[in-house]
Amino acid sequence: MEEFIARLLDLQDCDRGIDRLRADLESIPRELKIHRMDTQGHEAKFSLFRDNLDGIRKKQQKLTTDRSDNVTRIADYKSKLISLKSNSEYTTMLKQIANTEKMIDQIDNMIIETMYEEDEASRALEKALKERDRAVKRSSLREESLKEKLSELEKGLESMKADRSEIASRVDQRQLKMYEKSRSSGHREVVTGVMNGSCGGCLTKIPSQSAGEIKGGKTYVCPLCGSYVVWTSDSSF
Ligand SMILES: [Zn+2]
Repeated sequence: MEEFIARLLDLQDCDRGIDRLRADLESIPRELKIHRMDTQGHEAKFSLFRDNLDGIRKKQQKLTTDRSDNVTRIADYKSKLISLKSNSEYTTMLKQIANTEKMIDQIDNMIIETMYEEDEASRALEKALKERDRAVKRSSLREESLKEKLSELEKGLESMKADRSEIASRVDQRQLKMYEKSRSSGHREVVTGVMNGSCGGCLTKIPSQSAGEIKGGKTYVCPLCGSYVVWTSDSSF
């Protein structure tokens, strides 16, 4: 392999490492966001169950107030009974008392129902609370380790950038410009190997004579993608 190709290859390997590091770095904020959304989802579910339980308790309070209003009403009716003059007034009042008592019975049934509802809602709330706490804990642990990873990757990137400028300084200026122009236009394989007898950059078949020469150490420029095709450790005919 020619010297300038070997240097370009070093540079390309280093840039690939930097690309991988950058991709890892970019994935971290996305993952953090996913964890936050997961926690928010659990929070929302928990609030829903809490509102439900609050609603049931308010209903219970209202029923209890209604009940005691009706009890007061009956006492009031009963106290009026003695002062009533006519039979029909008396009968009407007795009917009213009976109706109110029936209403109290109905309220009592409803109170019992809401007690069951309250039990169920409390259990659901407790479950949602546990799930939320677990999610929060899980997310915060993950977040912590992601932040550690982030700072490690940032440090790694800094040191790779330093390595890169060291490597780049050994590459001929003209070659370096060409290489960087090529990479910035999206061509990631400025130096590539032979893959099954084809250019590793664009998969165009290489004439077998040229492939043999490449294996012998000659540099070949792919006529289609412009890559330098060389014989690498994973090259094959
Ligand atoms: Zn090619």
